[in-house]
Amino acid sequence: MKSLYIKFVVITIGIMIFSSIFAFLISNTYYHQKLKPHNDQKITAFAESIAAFTNEHPAIDLIEYLENISSIGYQIYLVDYAGDESFFGAAFRDNNLSVSTKEHVLNGHVYHGILHFPQETFVTGFFANELKNTIGVPLTHNGKNYALFLRPDIKLLFNEMHLLFAWLLAFTIILSIIMVVFSTKYLVRPISKLTKATKSLSNGDFNVELDINRYDELGELSHSFQRMANKLEQMDDMRKEFISNISHDIQSPLSNIKGYTNLLENASTSSKERVQYVSIINGEIRRLSTLTKQLLLLASLDRNDDILKKKTFNVGQQMKDLIRNYQWLVSEKGIMLSYSLPDTEIIGDPSLLNTVWDNLLANAIKYNKPDGSIEILIEEREKSIAVTFEDSGIGMSKAEIDRIFDRFYRADTARTRTIEGTGLGLSIVWSIVKLHDGHVYVKSEEKEGTAFIVELPVHS
Ligand code: ADP
Repeated sequence: MKSLYIKFVVITIGIMIFSSIFAFLISNTYYHQKLKPHNDQKITAFAESIAAFTNEHPAIDLIEYLENISSIGYQIYLVDYAGDESFFGAAFRDNNLSVSTKEHVLNGHVYHGILHFPQETFVTGFFANELKNTIGVPLTHNGKNYALFLRPDIKLLFNEMHLLFAWLLAFTIILSIIMVVFSTKYLVRPISKLTKATKSLSNGDFNVELDINRYDELGELSHSFQRMANKLEQMDDMRKEFISNISHDIQSPLSNIKGYTNLLENASTSSKERVQYVSIINGEIRRLSTLTKQLLLLASLDRNDDILKKKTFNVGQQMKDLIRNYQWLVSEKGIMLSYSLPDTEIIGDPSLLNTVWDNLLANAIKYNKPDGSIEILIEEREKSIAVTFEDSGIGMSKAEIDRIFDRFYRADTARTRTIEGTGLGLSIVWSIVKLHDGHVYVKSEEKEGTAFIVELPVHS
């Protein structure tokens, strides 16, 4: 994590340096293209006014006059034909000016050294304190010809400004670096916390408290992470509970089978008892077989990978066939079964949906009262169908309804304890209906009866 912090600081400072260089290059080009000619013109006009003044006032002392001019902020160089030269004001850093240039000006021409000062990438002509970087004008005083070269004394004119800008620049750079160093810490800290939390999560510790109170993307990421950790914890608990339920539900029939086979081995067991024990063992094996089949089905429903083999089929006909299979059980229990099952075509997985109807009908019979009734209906709605299984059975309390779709949940009441079951049937119903983008509704009244309504889209 340290490296991310250092990277961030280095990149930000790098960007600052790059932007400064780039900004300097652009403004330097702007000076050379736009400001330089303007500057040249301004100083030429000023130099010419000096020359005109000395020409018109032969009585003035030229040296004294030029000294005065230089003291208000100019660097001046004066030369005549004989090569006598004088400097006024601050010295030039570089005095190289060709003889031909001097002669050119002595012969009455104007020298535009500022305008023609060479453009260099990292040198701003404005500040170059060279004799070459001047304006030269011919000057006549008392009949004698001179060449006058001058440029503004930048140091004298802008010294305070220079200092001001230098301080401004220095403070901007120092403060920016300090702020980058601290703000990066502020940015990177939640990432370090998240990394720590990820590590503890991977070690199986779901108790992560991130306490990140931010409303930006990192805050959102932390909240999602927290939600993910809570969800993982719930799933882990569910997994543990699931395993312990399976173990219990497999272990208890196995120990029953073991107990009764021991009894069968016993020579003193009568043949009547033997028949009874074999029937119990068969019952336990049937229970184990149902349980494993249901577990396998749930596992493949959970995997969800192309399990649905959808086609168009008549759901009304399918349910009539199913009811025929249960007819004997229904009449054995004295239950009155009525139905209204019009031919209704839907797109879905016929085999899985048959499991749904099978479970709901089996429950309506199992949890019914003696001489109770069951009513099964198919209703066509706009884009869906609703299949209702209504029984006049033992019903359920509100708390039971909330849990019936949980895996292995069985209402543990005096009424249900004797009824065989695994507690997986309704979770299978739920998963299959969800895979068909449908919904299951439950209405139940204790001791009155229960209605399960499965709503399925016709073209799911
Ligand atoms: P199982 O029937 O194997 O116990 P299910 O998942 O099918 O498992 O049902 C879960 C629980 O829901 C049942 O144990 C029972 O308590 C309750 N239940 C399901 N259907 C009905 C019903 N028609 N009437 C009353 N209770 C029901």
